[in-house]
Amino acid sequence: MIDGSDPAVSARRAQLDANLSGVRDRIAAACVAAGRDPGEVTLIAVTKTYPAGDVALLADLGVTDVGENRDQEAAAKAAELAAAGLDLRWHFVGRLQRNKCRSVVGYADVVHSVDSARLAVALAEAADRRGRTVQALVQVSLDGAAGRGGALAGAADPEHGLAAVTAAVAGAGSLRLAGLMAVAPPDWPPDRAFARLAEIAAAVRAEHPAATVLSAGMSGDLEAAVRHGATHVRIGSALLGMRPALR
Ligand SMILES: *Cc1c(COP(=O)(O)O)cnc(C)c1O
Repeated sequence: MIDGSDPAVSARRAQLDANLSGVRDRIAAACVAAGRDPGEVTLIAVTKTYPAGDVALLADLGVTDVGENRDQEAAAKAAELAAAGLDLRWHFVGRLQRNKCRSVVGYADVVHSVDSARLAVALAEAADRRGRTVQALVQVSLDGAAGRGGALAGAADPEHGLAAVTAAVAGAGSLRLAGLMAVAPPDWPPDRAFARLAEIAAAVRAEHPAATVLSAGMSGDLEAAVRHGATHVRIGSALLGMRPALR
């Protein structure tokens, strides 16, 4: 699906290549500073609002982990790229409604945003019906702010408490509790946010040793996330360019 003779496509490829080098350099430098091996950090290209052609170019440049935050857009791109024969790993990173689970399990390998027991059950049922296992990350709210999503660490809430959500995921045969995801609260220094996330992740791993994935860090704060143990960084604008404000 890539027309290498089209000058616009070549220019876009060169731009993505340059952006990718910049992001890879940042990850490598952050790993060196933290005494970590860059091989421990997986780059997920968050391609929301950008066309399937960009995903194909990134795949050609070696990025095969792709993140999307809206089911409708993700489903269409995943179908188009699968039809073109690309083998990609799709990460659903956005807020997920229970009625979208059926669609999401049609393409997503990893769902980063499980934040309620009810959502875990709905996702598990959808995966079950499709006869597949989906990797699930429990999204944690670091500041407990309502409205941005995320399970609440330390809360006994049977629906949104972190322990309840991890238990619901771990107890579902068609889900694998792979780890945790968080977005740094906008008004917190990223180091404070990701240090807190690392503490929460250590506590979860004490009970669920296989939950080793830590999805943290975006274009603006990936260094802090790597410092605090991120295994997956979700990078949009630093790779693809600034998105229009409306999304
Ligand atoms: C859009 C998005 C990202 C990427 O954000 P950038 O700042 O563009 O790198 C990461 N995670 C989630 C959940 C997102 O919605």
